Amino acid sequence: MEQVFLKYIDDPNQHKIDTYIEHGGYQAIQKVFKEYQPTEVIDTVKASGVRGRGGAGFPAGLKWSFVPQNTGKPIYLACNGDESEPGTCKDRVIMENNPHLIIEGIMICCYAINAHHAFIYIRGEFAHPAARVEAAINEAYAKGYLGKNIFGTGFDLDIIVHTGGGAYICGEETSLLSSIEGSRGNARIRPPFPAVEGLYKCPTVINNVETLSSLPSIFNNGVEWYRSHGTEKSPGTKIFSLSGNVNKPGNYEVDLGTPLSYVINDLGGGIQNGHKLKAIIPGGSSTPLLMPDQIDTPLDYEAVAEAGSMLGSGAIIVIDERSCMVWVLMKLINFYAHESCGRCTPCREGTAWLKQLINRIENGDGQPGDIELILDVCDNIMGRTICPLGDAAVMPVRSFIQHFRDEFEYHIEHKKCKVETDYPFV
Ligand code: SF4
Repeated sequence: MEQVFLKYIDDPNQHKIDTYIEHGGYQAIQKVFKEYQPTEVIDTVKASGVRGRGGAGFPAGLKWSFVPQNTGKPIYLACNGDESEPGTCKDRVIMENNPHLIIEGIMICCYAINAHHAFIYIRGEFAHPAARVEAAINEAYAKGYLGKNIFGTGFDLDIIVHTGGGAYICGEETSLLSSIEGSRGNARIRPPFPAVEGLYKCPTVINNVETLSSLPSIFNNGVEWYRSHGTEKSPGTKIFSLSGNVNKPGNYEVDLGTPLSYVINDLGGGIQNGHKLKAIIPGGSSTPLLMPDQIDTPLDYEAVAEAGSMLGSGAIIVIDERSCMVWVLMKLINFYAHESCGRCTPCREGTAWLKQLINRIENGDGQPGDIELILDVCDNIMGRTICPLGDAAVMPVRSFIQHFRDEFEYHIEHKKCKVETDYPFV
């Protein structure tokens, strides 16, 4: 399979500008400057069908077309490299190995939307990726690829790296904007949407690292080439972060629509020590489970949704027969309760309550009626919060109980795991 993001992953110098240029880098932006008007760039990105790789899968070109050009205010681009969904580490590998690909993608987007300032928001824990991106930006300035009058076109662009403090919520786009502005990373109520009123109340596009990194390949190779990968509604390639009970965890780039079984068995080397597959989290910890009989589900937005889950950020977490699902859910809900910013009551109180209930079941103190109470709390969170964190906490809880209710009931009745295991993580 052809690769876009990880093609030169084995080249230890790919993060350096000269190596990136040797491999054809910065050709796409020069072509864009010479041959395309900004509106034609937007039309091309729309025609390519590239969808946001941060989780929602919203068409990138359509998002750009919402930006008003007549407000008299500056327009900003915020590149989201927060990547805080548990299981996800795909943006990290691009930032570390191929930072100029991101910069070139940012340049294409900024030219299209008429932005002259872009921010790359990187989570605080990503010190090494942030250093790589900073170094790449400095190299680009030194070559005259950033700053004033780029390639003699009269187009100016500055890119600023902003590192976060490590809050999950700052991966949510409006919280990310608050954080860049120097405020607490709180989510904002929409509308107005960021395309109209975003950073410093100015029109702002927010795109994920992987989304922006897709752009040079579209202009180097053409829309038809891009659409020859993936499916009609989910074109292109995508990096999947494979973790959990597999022999070869890692980041794998494949065409969208590739069967999940290919990623787990062929690329990931199958389940550890020949154990039996129990369940799969397909798109990051907030996405509902897929079951073993769904292992051939194609990894595209539509097929995973049809199977009852979400492609999300593309973080595939494999769970084998040795894991107690009460324990796994406890780890997840502890995370969401910890990361709730506390701004809205259903999320603040609800996630804390879910944490308390699920922890007491795991610890052998569960009470009859706890499962119904958990589901009732879920009903009172879902769809009633400012940002998606509330829903993100509820979806795995409902899914785990739907598929493994017997393990929760066993825990409550017998005060111990139904799963007899020597697996060290339960
Ligand atoms: Fe904060 Fe949770 Fe409300 Fe999001 S849903 S704004 S994280 S309290």
